Amino acid sequence: MNEATLQKVKERIEALKKLPGMGEKSVSKMLEDSGFTRRDFLKWSAAMAAMLSLPTSFTPLIAEAAEVSDRLPVIWLNMAECTGCSESLIRSDAPTIDNLIFNYINLQYHDTIMAAAGWQAEENLKEGMEKFKGRYILCVEGGIPTNMDGQYLTMGPHAETGLELLTRAANDAAAVISVGTCSSFGGIQAAAPNPTGAKGVYQVINKPVINVPGCPPSAKNIVGTILYVILFGALPAVDNFNRPKFAYGLRIHDLCERRGHFDAGEFVEQFGDAGAENGFCLYKVGCKGPYTFNNCSRERFNQHTSWPVQAGHGCIGCSEPDFWDSMAPYEEPLANKKYDSPLADATADSYGVTILTVAGVAIAAHAALSAIKNPKE
Ligand code: SF4
Ligand code: SF4
Repeated sequence: MNEATLQKVKERIEALKKLPGMGEKSVSKMLEDSGFTRRDFLKWSAAMAAMLSLPTSFTPLIAEAAEVSDRLPVIWLNMAECTGCSESLIRSDAPTIDNLIFNYINLQYHDTIMAAAGWQAEENLKEGMEKFKGRYILCVEGGIPTNMDGQYLTMGPHAETGLELLTRAANDAAAVISVGTCSSFGGIQAAAPNPTGAKGVYQVINKPVINVPGCPPSAKNIVGTILYVILFGALPAVDNFNRPKFAYGLRIHDLCERRGHFDAGEFVEQFGDAGAENGFCLYKVGCKGPYTFNNCSRERFNQHTSWPVQAGHGCIGCSEPDFWDSMAPYEEPLANKKYDSPLADATADSYGVTILTVAGVAIAAHAALSAIKNPKE
């Protein structure tokens, strides 16, 4: 990161500071009221800079970007989904700084949490889209039904289809972010036989889309992506599935605390056995960590306290395209079953598919060998 980029980011934040804020109080005051000190906030900013793969010199700028996050208008549309992504952000009994910053952003429209309904809701959306034309960030939660011209999902008093509303809202957005696996790749709605023809946002609009998949995605990945857009006014570098590399650049397996046991050929054979008590690797009881690109093993959940593999269940690959079909059965190893996703072919992820296929074969061989080598098995 050179000096010129740093200067540009500073100028961008100064320009955002001049815009009217929507928050009733400053971020510092809001955090203080929730029991977080200035030191906690700076520690969070340093951790966020590290997560975004930025140098430590960015720490104060991350704090400033969070302070001006209420200047950035966000329109949030809910399509075919369970609202789990929103719920995971807003229904926390002990909110993290990520949750609080999400609450602070300038949410112009959000189907689930706004008070308005019916005509009033439509009016709010229209007003937000007109007032912030070309400047708002569009966040989309949920898959987009496309069969029967999208009529499997209609919304509002004019029965507009989700597909129509999304196309209209995306046209005037400064950036489009798919929040969760459903809006990224279709999710459970797109599971076979996919009667509604559900698809990911990037498959139905002609605009760059950044995918933040997960079922649900972590608050850190959502807030990190939004902060990146605030800092740089651009989308972050992405992988072949349009996922930000800072969050989805490594496999779960790469930083898993059970990895030493995988390498040593020490596996849980069934839930509740001695291997489980000893914290052995969960591959044989279905962990899909070797096939899954996400940062759960590094960032964890619930204030960094734990994550599914630490709690004793394997990763189910929720941030991968078609995980619902491709990663099942969840409590059995994929072994050398080919990772078979039409999206993988469509996006020409030959690198990832090769790695996954080779990894699958190698892992199967490794697991089989361990069964012979370990006398207890
Ligand atoms: S297979 Fe799963 S439990 Fe085992 S090391 Fe990899 S991610 Fe961890
Ligand atoms: S550990 Fe795997 S299944 Fe669990 S949230 Fe992370 S990517 Fe999804």
